[in-house]
Amino acid sequence: MSRASLSVVSDAVTVRVPAKVNLHLGVGPLRDDGFHDLVTVYQALSLYDDVRLSPAGELRVTTRGEGSADVPGDSTNLAARAVAEVARRADRSPRVAIDIDKRIPVAGGMAGGSADAAGALVGAVNLWGLDIGRDELTEIAAGLGSDVPFALHGATALGTGRGEQLMPILARGEFHWVLAIARSGLSTPAVYRELDRLRDNRADTDVAARRPDDLMAALTSGDPHTVAPLLHNDLQPAALSLQPVLRRTLRAGIDAGALNGIVSGSGPTCAFLCADETSAVDVAAELSGAGVARAVRTATGPVPGARILSA
Ligand code: ATP
Repeated sequence: MSRASLSVVSDAVTVRVPAKVNLHLGVGPLRDDGFHDLVTVYQALSLYDDVRLSPAGELRVTTRGEGSADVPGDSTNLAARAVAEVARRADRSPRVAIDIDKRIPVAGGMAGGSADAAGALVGAVNLWGLDIGRDELTEIAAGLGSDVPFALHGATALGTGRGEQLMPILARGEFHWVLAIARSGLSTPAVYRELDRLRDNRADTDVAARRPDDLMAALTSGDPHTVAPLLHNDLQPAALSLQPVLRRTLRAGIDAGALNGIVSGSGPTCAFLCADETSAVDVAAELSGAGVARAVRTATGPVPGARILSA
């Protein structure tokens, strides 16, 4: 996204935003401010929400598609908060209709709300023809949520801090994923609380010291067989503790031929890395038949972050 592409004034803008999976998620101890230090490797996947912004009499949000009944339609919606923040900085009123076409599972550990926020940021800047550069947009994104900068950025990246400080990672080739979407969601704060409980609030892990160098090297090789055994998620025991049925989902994916399976972020979506496209289609078919998930999708990664479809 260049500065030039941000200065088009238009009647409506649609922005396509990707889901993410964490290939590595290291979680440090609970900090005094209530957050945890993270070291994570994000990858953006070809499972998208489309966020459409158009001029309106007042700020409003409507959502259709995957899990839309659970998405707030008021000013607490992350996309609405994003538009309100851009409007505040531009000293104008946020009179915009936001229409979200959801495919990313809600409360699924794939940062769907963050993706919508990133889409709304890019959409508002374009709709109003604002001269806001990439750095300022990233700063606004970080203020909205830890995963929002990555949804802007996309591709594969190392995230530190709360996950909002990004460094690109070179990942060769295309990785093939199968996503098992659970019947009910998990609240991210509840999963972190469960992790703290399981660790008895005594995590002495120096998360910064656990940079996943082996995984980053494997990503550069582009070989899924090398990447698969290095997938890791510190939140997985907590997600499994809250939804024990996910053990069965993970086992079913491995039995179906996936190279490895992992809970995505705070869950409960399970992500399976497969050897190639054919294997992914087979694993998806078997998982669908096994009845361990509400829905099963295939996706590839890495893909770009928020991008404009039409203006
Ligand atoms: P993350 O992995 O980023 O912590 P998640 O992917 O598990 O989050 P989201 O789908 O982002 O979960 O939504 C978490 C909660 O945020 C939802 O239960 C919903 O109440 C609220 N929310 C606010 N705005 C949105 C939005 N645009 N889309 C989805 N949920 C939203």
